[in-house]
Amino acid sequence: MIKIDALPAFSDNYLWLLQDAESRCCAVVDPGDAAPVLAWLEAHPGWRLTDILVTHYHADHIGGVARLKEACGSRVVGPARERIPARDQALGEGDHVQVLGLEFQVLEVPGHTLGHIAYYHEDAERPLLFCGDTLFAAGCGRLFEGTPEQMHRSLSRLAALPAATGVYCTHEYTLSNLRFAKAVEPANPHTAERFASVSRLREQGDISLPSTIALELATNPFLRVTETSVKQMADERAGRENPTPAEVFATLRAWKDQF
Ligand SMILES: [Zn+2]
Repeated sequence: MIKIDALPAFSDNYLWLLQDAESRCCAVVDPGDAAPVLAWLEAHPGWRLTDILVTHYHADHIGGVARLKEACGSRVVGPARERIPARDQALGEGDHVQVLGLEFQVLEVPGHTLGHIAYYHEDAERPLLFCGDTLFAAGCGRLFEGTPEQMHRSLSRLAALPAATGVYCTHEYTLSNLRFAKAVEPANPHTAERFASVSRLREQGDISLPSTIALELATNPFLRVTETSVKQMADERAGRENPTPAEVFATLRAWKDQF
């Protein structure tokens, strides 16, 4: 059984650390900073960092990669379409990669950046998704490079994964995302409920992740662009009709950028 912990970094990043107690091997996703990982390894003698998984090239996701590889000799895997330091294996759509005995499928999910990839582990009991800055709890990444159509398509692919899939995104943005979600869907009881529970968690200093695809489908406005109430709100906001789900998405994303 692989244990997964979040190592906090910077002001609101999480570096996901996967641990296999049997082999004492671990893997990290998007280490923007090497220090929290090196501190963990120092506190856990006998453990080895065997793999570093990267979703996209932004500094807060790759800043620690070279130092960790140098210190630990880990294998670095990352998106083929982006420049990733010390990368050993370039991954694209449909590729598979074995990490701590788990098989991950690579999905290309352009939008936040053009080469962004996500790692999906299919499993009847515990499917896992490491999605970087594409899908957030109750939100989604900013469109730095891609078009709204691309991001909408990428999010739709993630939304189609099994409902039980654990969603491991890389930032603690949930509460502010839920404030926006409430503005889009003031009558959605699941959003109100989630806002209350995440507020409690954050007051206690607890993490709001991982999420699940089921919870995102119920509360994330960016995955709910085909809901009538969401479309109506987007139409009102845009002052015109948004004829396609991708245009509803574009209106919501532009609204959120200045929310
Ligand atoms: Zn990013």
